[in-house]
Amino acid sequence: MTTSIAASHAKGKCATDKIFGANAAASKAVALYGKDKVVNATIGAFMDEQEALACIPTVGKVFKELPINQIVPYAPIAGLPDYLDAMIDLMFADNKPDAYIEAVATAGGTGAIHHTIWNYSESGDTVLTSDWYWGPYKILCQDSLRKLDTYTLFDEQHNFNIKAFTNKVKELLTKQDNLIIIINTPAHNPTGFSLSDSDWDKVLDLFKECAKDAKKNIIPLIDIAYIDYAGEKNQCRTFLKKLGGLPANVLPILASSMSKGFTMYGQRTGAMIGISSNKDVITEFASVNQFTSRATWSNINYSAMKLMSLIYQDKTLLSQVENERSQYYALIRKRADIFMQEAKEANLHMLPYIAGFFITVPTENPEAVCEKLHEDNIFAVPLAKGIRIAVCAVSSTKITGMAAKIAKAIVSVSK
Ligand code: PLP
Repeated sequence: MTTSIAASHAKGKCATDKIFGANAAASKAVALYGKDKVVNATIGAFMDEQEALACIPTVGKVFKELPINQIVPYAPIAGLPDYLDAMIDLMFADNKPDAYIEAVATAGGTGAIHHTIWNYSESGDTVLTSDWYWGPYKILCQDSLRKLDTYTLFDEQHNFNIKAFTNKVKELLTKQDNLIIIINTPAHNPTGFSLSDSDWDKVLDLFKECAKDAKKNIIPLIDIAYIDYAGEKNQCRTFLKKLGGLPANVLPILASSMSKGFTMYGQRTGAMIGISSNKDVITEFASVNQFTSRATWSNINYSAMKLMSLIYQDKTLLSQVENERSQYYALIRKRADIFMQEAKEANLHMLPYIAGFFITVPTENPEAVCEKLHEDNIFAVPLAKGIRIAVCAVSSTKITGMAAKIAKAIVSVSK
């Protein structure tokens, strides 16, 4: 028996991360066989065609030129005001809804998810997300003593499964008064799926219907971590405009982040953006979340917030950043297109990819298939019901031929 002195709620906690595990296996293969021979499709960051971690050049330049007095200070707990204004403007672009809107700085998108769970669900409540989901959602729920339940994301035609979604939302609302629903769109991790505007209409109609019961509070937590790699800026943001004019007991919260859009992954800078028709709800939103920031990390990274506001305030810099990022987006698209075309030719079934860093191949026995792929020096992340391929991280040359090898591995494992 091992000795344990952790408190009862902490006992047994151990975050074994499959993604970092798979990445470690790939690194080992690189050491043995050389980088050229290994396909590392596990990394959730954009790697250029030489497979080096890419930083948007203008972002890197402005960051390096910051004077020391814009690097080391403490920031206000709520975040630098200019940063918050920039985040709100950039996240909505031309699709700002007619509503009260406030932002609170958070440690990445993860921080926004953490605070939403803590402040908008009761201890023991269940949070809802889709059956394909980013693993840390569960860890975040568990750590706050909440549960995570899922609905089936796709119907048989690979469309958004509004029926399964409706059933789960209604079922959970019979058991609890506050319901957080995490919707990762556009460019969902791990599938690359995005809800269409008509999916959103149905989702919002459901929320309005459920909100007629004044005791119930519905908190759609919209995880937009990948919104800057989801297509044309305004086209992929049209749904945001629909978030205005909702009842006071429906509070959409955007979990936004500089990690992907500004390639500032490790600088841990994001924001939670609350949208409400009710002023009190938004005043409370700013107040309770700032309080939780004080209680968890105090204030966040000053220099990254400064970087964002400097770029935002200089339209030349901003358009440079957007152009450079669109080249990254084009490369990810190219890689995804190669994979999807070859998947079709190899009869490899995949989930509906629209945009983003990842593609998912559904399969039985994902662990065994990933093991089998190691023989070809291909490393991907096994999920519960499929394999996640990081098209953000593999060069076009190495993506070529991958789909056929995955198809072969699946057949060989199922024999
Ligand atoms: N949401 C999803 C789906 C993600 O994949 C990530 C990062 O991988 C995040 C949120 C948040 O990232 P960060 O905390 O670095 O902003």
